[in-house]
Order: sequence, then C-alpha cells, then structure tokens
Amino acid sequence: MLNIILFGPPGSGKGTQSKKITEKYNLVHISTGDALRNAIIKKTSLGIEAQKLIDDGNYVTDEMAIEIIKEELDNHECANGFVFDGFPRTTFQAEQFPEILFKFGTNVNLMISIVVDENILIERLLNRAKECDRPDDREEEIIYKRLEIYNETTACVKDYYKSLGKYESIEGNGEIDGIFDKICTVIEKYN
Ligand code: ADP
Repeated sequence: MLNIILFGPPGSGKGTQSKKITEKYNLVHISTGDALRNAIIKKTSLGIEAQKLIDDGNYVTDEMAIEIIKEELDNHECANGFVFDGFPRTTFQAEQFPEILFKFGTNVNLMISIVVDENILIERLLNRAKECDRPDDREEEIIYKRLEIYNETTACVKDYYKSLGKYESIEGNGEIDGIFDKICTVIEKYN
C-alpha cells in the first residue's frame, strides 16, 4: 500500500493536489475536512458537535478527528492506499496514527509538505471566500485565525515525520500542474 500525507496550511492546495494524486496512483483521498462537512450536512451527532468549532475556525477535538478518520478508513477497506488530507493536524494525532492504521496492516509511507508563501495563501483564501459557501472561508478574521492555529499547532507535526525519515517538502507557489509534477517526482522516489 502507498499511504501519503499531504501536508500544508489552509490554501496550500492540498485538496486540488490530492485529487490529482489519487487519480494518477489509484489511491483513495481521505479529507477529514470533507468528511466533517458531510457529517454536518447529515446532522450526525459528531457533525452537530463539530459544526460550531469549524465555523468559528477552530479545530475539532483529537477524539473527533480520530473518530472521523477511522470511519473513513472503514469505508475503504479494499483501497490500494490513501492520500490523507487534513490528518494528522496535531502531534497527538500523528502519534496515534500507526495504531489506527495497524488494523489495516499498513502505515504512513511519506509526508509531502506543500510550502507556500503566506501572502499567497491569504490571497488564495480570500479568493476562495468569494466563490465558495464554506462558512470558515467567508470571513477574513476567521481565515487569519485558521492560519494562526496552523502555525501554532500543526506546523510542528512535520518534525514527527522528519524524525522518522518520512518527510519531503516541495514549493507550492506556482501553477497547479507544475506543483503536481514536483509531487510525482517525490512519490516516485519512494514508490
Ligand atoms: P483547510 O484545507 O482549509 O485547512 P479542511 O477542509 O482540511 O480545511 O478542514 C476544515 C476544518 O475541519 C478545519 O479548519 C478544522 O476545524 C476541521 N478539521 C479537519 N481535520 C481536522 C483534524 N485532523 N483535527 C482537527 N480538526 C480538523
């Protein structure tokens, strides 16, 4: 199995690139953000609990994030491998991940970090705000808050994978296809 964590701040293009990677390498895309938004639409008990946190730009609890990733994995037992987008977002989630994946006889192969200049991130997020109906993308203040939480809580998760020798970073400022080529080069080095 090939299991890749696509890592980066909000607006770094994880969602766009995840889709391209899963198509090319025949993997399953697991986005905890998408899964949580589905739970909110379906009004599951987890969705109801998550909604206020997410709308305000906060993270859901580690327990909630772990519950949602387990559900997603259970739904795709026959996959060739996964692209994880939005998980792990805390060091605790990263530490729990081997145990979560053990049930499937697999582990994370590689974290690929998409590095984007902060001014470009902000520009992209403000543009996304105009086009989309995500409440957490609508207000500038919430966008800044999410970037701050990312820098405080999530950016350090890369150190966990660096220490395991499972970390690569690519520059993600340019065009979608150029960034995708760089990601493929990294994947092929490991695969
Ligand atoms: P973005 O790509 O803009 O970072 P996502 O769609 O990945 O946003 O996630 C949206 C929201 O869902 C996050 O801001 C957070 O509130 C919640 N969320 C998603 N994954 C996790 C996680 N692993 N841990 C905690 N909260 C999460």
